Amino acid sequence: MSGVLDPRTSPPFPIVAKTMLGDSQLRKNVRHATDVIQTKRARVVGEMPDWQALREAGRQIRSHTMENLDFYLEELERNCTRAGGVVHWARDAEEARQIVVALVKESGSDEVIKIKSMTTEEIHLNPALEAAGIHPYETDLAELIIQLGEDWPSHIVVPALHKNRQQIREIFQKKMNLPELGERPQDLADAARMFLREKFLRVKTGLSGANFLIAETGGVCIIESEGNGRMCLTLPETLITVAGIDKVLPRYQDLEVVLQLVPRSATGERMNPYNSIWTGVNAKDGPRNFHVVLMDNARTEILADEEARQTLNCVRCGACQNACPVYRQTGGHAYGSVYAGPIGAILTPQLQEMHHAQSLPYASSLCGACYEVCPVKINIPEVLIHLRNKVVEQKGVSAEALAMKMMGMVFMSERRFRAAQRMGRMAEVPLVRKDGQGVGWIGWLPGMLGGWTQVRDLQEMPKETFRDWWEKRGKDGK
Ligand code: SF4
Repeated sequence: MSGVLDPRTSPPFPIVAKTMLGDSQLRKNVRHATDVIQTKRARVVGEMPDWQALREAGRQIRSHTMENLDFYLEELERNCTRAGGVVHWARDAEEARQIVVALVKESGSDEVIKIKSMTTEEIHLNPALEAAGIHPYETDLAELIIQLGEDWPSHIVVPALHKNRQQIREIFQKKMNLPELGERPQDLADAARMFLREKFLRVKTGLSGANFLIAETGGVCIIESEGNGRMCLTLPETLITVAGIDKVLPRYQDLEVVLQLVPRSATGERMNPYNSIWTGVNAKDGPRNFHVVLMDNARTEILADEEARQTLNCVRCGACQNACPVYRQTGGHAYGSVYAGPIGAILTPQLQEMHHAQSLPYASSLCGACYEVCPVKINIPEVLIHLRNKVVEQKGVSAEALAMKMMGMVFMSERRFRAAQRMGRMAEVPLVRKDGQGVGWIGWLPGMLGGWTQVRDLQEMPKETFRDWWEKRGKDGK
């Protein structure tokens, strides 16, 4: 697979989802990985008697930040600049890409080592760097697998979750030229370590995203499990961080809450093995030049929508993806965007002003599992319904809307309702097939109604309705 996951060019969710449902290996890999993470998550969350209070604290911190985002962004810029960093503002993905390419060229390097970052995936930074003659090396193990396998991420925390160990081994054997590579996890980790070490020591420019930006200190926080991120933060001479403006936290102390919520929700860990926070530059240690690119890319439009604003509270833990019955069946690529699962279903249409992702708000059973696990209590089903309303408004008067209007008129009058039932019973006769028990089923409906029978059979209408039966009993109930 090559190219990028871009909602503007990807086919709609129902089409890709159908293909994915036919890939039994992919479904097995996704189910296994999400089961393992969910079990670990449930165990470590169960250890916290104050988990619900912690979630509420997380929600309040994030909501307060979004309500005062302009204030905290300016505070962040002041403090980052004071500490020796340089802040750049990017209106959209194109501007962010241009700024980063120019900064890398300025650093005198034609290579960069990268820390896992969904924001750089969102803006398709790697193809832009390559087009400018700059080679990006992913250093996160999962991102490295994706890069070497010329694949796309399918999960925000575990991008290569759709691959099993054997598939990863084959990629390493081919791309690292290691035909004798063993298949134990240790063998794969050793191969990746050797492959990356040389890059860490040679490449002079590092590129990161940010888990959080801290307004009070002007600092940036990255949490990770492998330590590769920390190598990218400390070894290069120039460090460039690309972050969405939604990543801000007001105070240093807020980390106390989010650093408990995120690792438990993301990978079922009590704490991330590596928590790195850096602020500006220091003459004795770390990179000599530090730039942070603060990117809007439609986030202020999301902020302006009071009902959908909570989308920006997301801390990208991926728990909603693991819990979602739709994601668990289709995997991430069906969403046509780097943000998959429930968070993708609400974030992508808003980042794209809906035009290119109108099917995503419908890629949900609205079961609420995502809301239950979200560490900052984002009411994803509520936002999905809000976005469905927007889709309907955007589409204008459709055949579906007219049909619903007619249905409404039928339901408003008992006489019309009874007439519709009589007509329905007559119309269904040629479509009904009896099963072994003599029960009638309809497996195909014509036209627009066909969507209903595409994935399920419809039982024939009862010969007698409850109301008819009730009336036949008479007033004395016999
Ligand atoms: S919506 Fe909630 S559960 Fe999903 S990734 Fe964001 S913070 Fe995590």
